[in-house]
Amino acid sequence: MYSSIENPIKILLFEDNLGDAGLLEEMLEGFNCSYRLKVVETLNEGLKILKIQLFDVILLDLGLPDSDGIDTLVDLHKNNFKTPIIVLTGLNNEDIGTLAVKIGAQDYLIKKQIDSTMLKRSIRYSIERKKIESELQNYKENLEEKVKERTRELERSNKELQQFAYVASHDLREPLRMISSFLQLLERRYNEQLDEEANEFIEFAVNGAKRLDSMINDLLEYYRVANKEKKLDDVDVNKVISTTYLNLKSAIDENKAELTHNQLPTVLGDEKLMVQLFQNLISNSIKYRSIERPRIHITAKKESNQYLFKVRDNGIGMSPKHVERIFTIFQRLHTNEEYEGTGIGLSIAQKIVHQHGGQIWAESEPEKGSIFYFTIPELM
Ligand code: ADP
Repeated sequence: MYSSIENPIKILLFEDNLGDAGLLEEMLEGFNCSYRLKVVETLNEGLKILKIQLFDVILLDLGLPDSDGIDTLVDLHKNNFKTPIIVLTGLNNEDIGTLAVKIGAQDYLIKKQIDSTMLKRSIRYSIERKKIESELQNYKENLEEKVKERTRELERSNKELQQFAYVASHDLREPLRMISSFLQLLERRYNEQLDEEANEFIEFAVNGAKRLDSMINDLLEYYRVANKEKKLDDVDVNKVISTTYLNLKSAIDENKAELTHNQLPTVLGDEKLMVQLFQNLISNSIKYRSIERPRIHITAKKESNQYLFKVRDNGIGMSPKHVERIFTIFQRLHTNEEYEGTGIGLSIAQKIVHQHGGQIWAESEPEKGSIFYFTIPELM
């Protein structure tokens, strides 16, 4: 902001010592630019004027009849964000000047040392600095608004994508069922007429259709979990493990698996999802067992504002280089002939942990078993 005859620099001076005010006015006259000075003697008078009139800069003496010290600046600042303020301090009050700048003044000047050049420089500098500060503030607010808007857009498109995937998977099942049942009809009705090779081809096709059906089924389950409204409550994880145990009882008994755990905490979560999470991890520990009897041990410990859970097994393990990709949908390390599955269990486990605001990862080595870690924040 630079002055011109039509556009003088408008200065509001808070100063009850008329001698000092006169001195400042004289210095301003030494300016080779036009200005308009308004002097007020009290804080209240100045605040009233600021409500109806705009100024380019405020010169503020902190010792006024109705306010003294740094409070003068605090009060003025509360009522006026836009106009740059230059604080005028006494000789022994440099600390106050620095404090004033920290809490919002653009500059400070020591009264007894001011000269015309210094005053002019400070006024120009304060006006420019305030302008840059306001621009930065606007830019920041703009940016925050943009980030919020993008996040909303992203959430919406994410939701739409999930819905699309859900509907598409759902609709795919109908024609798939048709393929499956006609193939089976073909197998039953023409079994005698076809040669061995043709029957084998039909069997491959039937198996392929069945597999596709399980994959679509699991994909639907994934989207069901992703779109489920969470029912947050205090969840006793010891109880979650008991339920999981009952759900997996036949696999546990069949494999003579040993499932143990330490005392586990109560966390803020969705009980059904927590059961599903443990179920997916424990059933994998049983499925990917070694020749040894499966031993699964669960522990948890509190870490600042979250719980760290650990599910350790003595199964076949895997190479450390694969431990990241196993959480991706349909990523498997084995063929269906080796181990049945669609590769979605860990993606669901990851989705559940993310929905609770936590992280999941694994550590493993071939033949050394695996450890699955996940965190659940104390508060969401
Ligand atoms: P699925 O079991 O249907 O393949 P998951 O998503 O549950 O799907 O697991 C992905 C892959 O991670 C599995 O194919 C397996 O190779 C590996 N995996 C998961 N859990 C374990 C485990 N406890 N021990 C060894 N490998 C595992």
